[in-house]
Amino acid sequence: MIRLRLFLLLIYSVFSFQGYSDIHFKSETPQSPFLQNNNQTVYVCTGSYAYAYHSRSNCNGLNNCKGEIKYTDEYYARTGLNRKPCCICWSNVIGDCKNDNTEAVGSGGAGGNGSNNDALAAVGIAIIAGSAAILSNDFYLHNNFNFANKEVSPLSIGLGFRKLLKESAIEYGLILGDNVDYQLSYLHKIHSSKKSDRFNVFLGPSLNYVDQIGFGGLLSSQYTLGKVVKLDVRYELTSQSHRISLGFIFHYQDKYFWQR
Ligand SMILES: [Zn+2]
Repeated sequence: MIRLRLFLLLIYSVFSFQGYSDIHFKSETPQSPFLQNNNQTVYVCTGSYAYAYHSRSNCNGLNNCKGEIKYTDEYYARTGLNRKPCCICWSNVIGDCKNDNTEAVGSGGAGGNGSNNDALAAVGIAIIAGSAAILSNDFYLHNNFNFANKEVSPLSIGLGFRKLLKESAIEYGLILGDNVDYQLSYLHKIHSSKKSDRFNVFLGPSLNYVDQIGFGGLLSSQYTLGKVVKLDVRYELTSQSHRISLGFIFHYQDKYFWQR
């Protein structure tokens, strides 16, 4: 039971990593352009790779926004969202500014200290990945062939951990394509070959998350190649993804190290 709770907590922390609470955003457009200096209305992108707040909603720095463009006040953008002024649309912020989506726009905010957040995020991810490794039984690695979809590259890599249950498995990991996508699936065994116990088919629900949650199903056929390796061919269809994946599952522990 404690293990289950730990696991749920882990999943929660993975998924809340990029979560935003909407409470702090204003719901109406600002009426007056004459705002107090310390409470200026600013614009932010809620998507991944957004680090800046903008003085206007049509700033070029917002062109690559994968999420929504919302407005809030400058104080909350700085303290609550940890954003820096955008290097494009603010003047006199040299050395202390950041651009959204720096890969696409080019980094103008090299002098800022916004990288502290990235370092912290990296530490958080390392802790979560470490915990997942300890609590899981399998590691999986897939090559994904994605069918035509609005914002998905044709190829991506899927990797993560599997926690084995009696006749099923819980999987959690990342899809590395143009974006980093979170993946959570539950697979239940629906078919075992009578001739050999090497071949099994699994079916279950699948969740993934880029800027919004996608929900659907996953069909996986697994063939045991050896004591630790399975060949895995799977088909996934969710509201955010449609792909065939080919890969391997590596079994690295039956029991937790403290039970051995
Ligand atoms: Zn801007």
